[in-house]
Amino acid sequence: MNSVFNELTFKRQPDIQYKSKEEIAAFQNERLQEQMAYVYAHSPYYRRVFDESHVSPEDIKTVADLQRLPVTTKTELQKFNNDFFCVPQSEIVDIVTTSGTTGDPVVVGLTKHDLDRLSYNEFLTFSAAELTKDDIIQLTCTLDKRFMAGMAYFLGAVELGTGIVRVGGGVPQLQWDTIQRIHPTTLMCVPSFLIKLAEFAEKNGIDFHKSGIKKAICIGESIRTKEFGFTELSKHIDERWGEIKLYNTYASTEMQTGFSECSFGCGGHHQPELIIVEFLDENNNPVADDEPGEVTITHLGVEGMPLVRFKTGDICYHHTEKCKCGRNTMRLSAVIGRRSQMLKVKGTTVYPPALFDVLDPLPEVANYVVEAFTNDLGTDEIRILVGTNTPSEELQKKIKDLYRAKVRVAPIIEFANPADVDKIRIVEGQRKITKFVDKR
Ligand SMILES: [Zn+2]
Repeated sequence: MNSVFNELTFKRQPDIQYKSKEEIAAFQNERLQEQMAYVYAHSPYYRRVFDESHVSPEDIKTVADLQRLPVTTKTELQKFNNDFFCVPQSEIVDIVTTSGTTGDPVVVGLTKHDLDRLSYNEFLTFSAAELTKDDIIQLTCTLDKRFMAGMAYFLGAVELGTGIVRVGGGVPQLQWDTIQRIHPTTLMCVPSFLIKLAEFAEKNGIDFHKSGIKKAICIGESIRTKEFGFTELSKHIDERWGEIKLYNTYASTEMQTGFSECSFGCGGHHQPELIIVEFLDENNNPVADDEPGEVTITHLGVEGMPLVRFKTGDICYHHTEKCKCGRNTMRLSAVIGRRSQMLKVKGTTVYPPALFDVLDPLPEVANYVVEAFTNDLGTDEIRILVGTNTPSEELQKKIKDLYRAKVRVAPIIEFANPADVDKIRIVEGQRKITKFVDKR
């Protein structure tokens, strides 16, 4: 890559995943030192952080040394966005933004080198799902709308030599036409879209069990509980369309990196050559191995807009024992929630996804919005607005009983017309559907 900034020697090293824990740690420490020197030399934001903390890049020799530096939050990214750039605008080729679900979107610029790294990242995702050159991926998400991931999937497929057909989001008719005409083996999709595809097939006399699709690499929504079982959503998909093997992934624009499951489906594998991960508690201290913690990342090999100790807001468990696939890398559970959305309801800690998971499989429920508010006693309370065409006392009791049994909370349940609920869920200019409204 012809760049003056390429002193970061990003290398493809897929075998590192199979090395011993000690070798992986030594490898990460070495890469970390290069990254710290680079960031200090080129990032106005991090140069300030190092100087104000009286830390020099040479002081950071190991992952544990990172604790000498403060964390970076989304607020800083929003406030000092330009100061995070390590290269002049002329070196940036791909410009994307975060979704802007919480506040202003953050602009992320990628150099040619960063796109190359992104390509390798998805190559690893597809390799973990055991895709080969003989597979064809049907891409059911957008490549535009300032979205990083669609392009990443495309590049990763090219790197692996897998076929890829870019259908984009929605349009079930075109999706089915593509499935029947091009015979893809793999769908890259938001998991709930599989239900929509099956419903469309049923309505239109298409035998979806003969689709030829063998795998779905799921994005955007989690298909796993923290114990690696299926969520209600993925149970529902599996019952309906069981011949498709589902793979969970976890990624974000800020991370420029994904954590993807292998065929054993027991957590997203960490890629040691791309990123360093810490799991922190509310006071930014590392959590114990069996505790959930906030995923906090430091990039390796990122040139355009590298982040150091960026707190993602996502809460995960992590697992360090060797995987059955032979990889020795750490595995991340599905995200159990967002730190900022943690609810404490009468002593029970709960995150909104656990609340969604109860409603997702219910056929009577068309849509919903979960609201959190502070009650007169100053504690958290949950109200759920359920969109349904068949409201009844029975349905209310059924939902309440499910919440008591599965999440051990008793939310207030209110019924509404699904169209009215959609008015809250769909916000103009936002990429994601609003399912949680925090009024605390
Ligand atoms: Zn594995």
